[in-house]
Amino acid sequence: MTVIAGYLEFIQSTKGLPKSLVLPVDKALEQSANMQTLIDDLLTLSQLENKELKQSLLTRIDVEKHLNSILQMLAAGGESTNYTILPHVEDSLYIHASQKELDSICYNLINNALKYSEAGSDINISWKKINSKEVKFSVSDQGIGIDAEHIVHLTERFYRVDSGRSRRVGGTGLGLSITKHSIERHNGRMEIQSRLGEGSTFSVILPINPLKK
Ligand code: ADP
Repeated sequence: MTVIAGYLEFIQSTKGLPKSLVLPVDKALEQSANMQTLIDDLLTLSQLENKELKQSLLTRIDVEKHLNSILQMLAAGGESTNYTILPHVEDSLYIHASQKELDSICYNLINNALKYSEAGSDINISWKKINSKEVKFSVSDQGIGIDAEHIVHLTERFYRVDSGRSRRVGGTGLGLSITKHSIERHNGRMEIQSRLGEGSTFSVILPINPLKK
């Protein structure tokens, strides 16, 4: 894919490229980027399915700092422009997790809340301790919501409620499968509450020390 995209970028930047080729080359580049995302997501999924979580992958993560870095990433990519993000993080909260997987869980859920909400709406994000051993991360949006019949299927590979809309907002339908695998590897669980036309809340309950018996 890198080589194909490289050739297409070369053609795109060629001086005197016939006008009739500008759109096809732009479209081909867009599709190669989508294909690359799909390949990356499939590789991530197969790695998560085949490898057990080991102590060596875990680091102590300051939850507030972590959330700030995810929000900065979304702001830098322009995804959160025009939304009001309202974070509520309990003081001095930390967990032991794979940094890369926690990044992916939080990024995916916040990015979905943004993708499936109208610009101008609020996104509430919270991290809190729910008992001596577990913490809960929640993302609530005021977006399109999900009909009850779809909720149980959302974490299946390639499942999309509205594939046209999902494709338009850049989705592969693998994000929640990856998220679920990472959560389960950390001995956690995901809860989804949603009402069509009103919004959704995706919550993740994670143990503070996933490998501690
Ligand atoms: P995608 O890459 O298509 O966003 P995901 O696996 O992340 O795939 O999500 C699966 C489907 O769940 C989406 O296509 C969308 O229909 C639905 N979905 C996920 N998050 C939300 C949300 N916050 N609000 C409404 N629908 C959502």
